[in-house]
Amino acid sequence: MQGMMKAVVKQTAGPGFELVHIPIPQIGPHDILIRTRAASICGTDIHIYNWDVWAANRIKPPIIIGHEFCGDVVEIGSQVTEVQVGDFISAESHIVDHTCDLCRTGMAHICRNTQIIGVDRDGSFAEYVALPAANAWHNPPNMPPEIAALEENFGNAVHTALETPVVARKVLVTGCGPVGVMTIAVAKAAGARAIYASDISAYRLDLAKKMGADLTLNPQRDDLVKTILDDTNGDGVDVLLEMSGAPSAIRDGLRLLKAGGHAVMLGLPSKPFELDLANLVIMKGITVHGIAGRKLWETWYEIRGLLRSGAVNLEPVITHRFKLEEFQKAFETMMSGDSGKVVLFP
Ligand code: NAD
Ligand code: ZN
Repeated sequence: MQGMMKAVVKQTAGPGFELVHIPIPQIGPHDILIRTRAASICGTDIHIYNWDVWAANRIKPPIIIGHEFCGDVVEIGSQVTEVQVGDFISAESHIVDHTCDLCRTGMAHICRNTQIIGVDRDGSFAEYVALPAANAWHNPPNMPPEIAALEENFGNAVHTALETPVVARKVLVTGCGPVGVMTIAVAKAAGARAIYASDISAYRLDLAKKMGADLTLNPQRDDLVKTILDDTNGDGVDVLLEMSGAPSAIRDGLRLLKAGGHAVMLGLPSKPFELDLANLVIMKGITVHGIAGRKLWETWYEIRGLLRSGAVNLEPVITHRFKLEEFQKAFETMMSGDSGKVVLFP
């Protein structure tokens, strides 16, 4: 397609983004062109906005940011058969090679050659996005765009909460950002017996309650370890779902995990830190699960099932909506901590 479009771009190495007019992307034979309907802001976008150490090492400007989105297919490449013009799709943001040993053994979510849209190649804070057709996920036409945009990030929560059984078990969720609160909802739907949740933001603890947490605690105000030990007859929890990346939350979470329990970890620490591995992991005989992205495509079928059955309602997670042009305000809202998911509309 010819013409120009609006896009939010990291123009140069340094903090901030700019709204620019650039040509609509051209597509290859295996790609599709999507007109964006909604795109949500992820924690990763905040790292890129702030230009922290991780972003400086990974991002090569100029690049269009954004990887959680949905939209309508407006053009398909000559070799594309599985997607039609007019389809309403969400996107798996991880583009994998389909050929490495991990892809070929059912572990494409940790493909050796993963490229992430909005990180390693142009993303979705734009009117149009080019994507390999293999990364499209079909939605029902009547799905609200902000929910469809959120499916990718919800997939992180689904992957985490369903990694190990939680049915009839006591669960601790550390970190109640958007992914944390969605994880609470999935653990609830999966039959957890009790869900404890921690965060340092009152706004987010409130959201955690709405999404199904039984007891919410602020480690800066409450004695997290004592309260949960008292409530579990001194045993602690069966499963830890770590969604903060905060060293103190990881330490407390592991302390509160029963011997023999499962720690499922998605939150990314901003840098390496010290941990008493001998006492918190090894001698307790726990199992640690690292969670990257979404399982292809197992997690996406679970996303579909949880949303269509009504087992999980994502509406309360979406707290703010902005036009693409208002991206500055949208990012400030997201960074304030007084928000759930913030969605942009081109
Ligand atoms: P977020 O930054 O909004 O959420 C993190 C939450 O942790 C915040 O609400 C924060 O207040 C809370 N927190 C900080 N210190 C805490 C403490 N000591 N105890 C309890 N809570 C504390 O991010 P998000 O979008 O919800 O994502 C959650 C994490 O998952 C982030 O670290 C993100 O980078 C990571 N992530 C990983 C993957 C993956 O594939 N592994 C995918 C998406 C996001
Ligand atoms: Zn691969």
